[in-house]
Amino acid sequence: MRKIVAGNWKMNHGPVAAAGFFDRFRPETDPESVELIFFVAGLSLHAVEASARVPVGLGVQNIHWEPSGALTGEMSAEMAAEAGASYILAGHSERRHVFGETDAEVSRKVAAAVRAGLVPVVCVGELLEERRAGRLAEVLRRQVSAFVPALRGSGEFMVAYEPVWAIGTGETATPYDASEAHGIVREALGALGKAPILYGGSVKPGNAAALMSAPDVDGVLVGGASLEPEVFARIAAAGEQSVE
Ligand code: PEP
Repeated sequence: MRKIVAGNWKMNHGPVAAAGFFDRFRPETDPESVELIFFVAGLSLHAVEASARVPVGLGVQNIHWEPSGALTGEMSAEMAAEAGASYILAGHSERRHVFGETDAEVSRKVAAAVRAGLVPVVCVGELLEERRAGRLAEVLRRQVSAFVPALRGSGEFMVAYEPVWAIGTGETATPYDASEAHGIVREALGALGKAPILYGGSVKPGNAAALMSAPDVDGVLVGGASLEPEVFARIAAAGEQSVE
């Protein structure tokens, strides 16, 4: 099955740096085996679209749930779609834990993405203290059950399992940990359980193949290691190695 290798550039790479990235990004992967997606700043969408020399999916990292209005500084799903995005990250752990986004707000963003025809990639994941307290399954089930109704049973979506303790810390879940959590998410999704589930949290060229070969792991969402074109191309190659 095809693997998905997605990069989350966070607040990095404006239009000039984005174009420079694609001058050097030369993945040798077959798009039939590895689907590449980039979550970029809204203002870099056009630069990525204009400078990517290989097929890439384009997404934004956050939206507001209203379609338009007096909400200074916000961007709607419709505006992101108009600017060329097809995907949106919802509920990234930095949104949840730095900006205080709640499950209810994530669900409204998922509904807005569906309304605008964007594919939501919904991030879920536990804090270290929740894992240590044996609450992994409870937290994941709560986060999944909050956004599933917003999908209204239709449309394409993905989930990214990103344990909060592994994001940007250098700590990575083992392939076994990732499989276990993905199994919990799949079960919580019920009838929607065939959706792709990505793993995210300090993915690097050295651990990407093992993670993507683990049962139930359909791809990866990569933060820091997606900023360097050569490094991200090596992660894409690891995705191809793990295709069955
Ligand atoms: C992320 O931003 O989704 C992420 C997983 O970051 P990092 O790969 O840097 O841990």
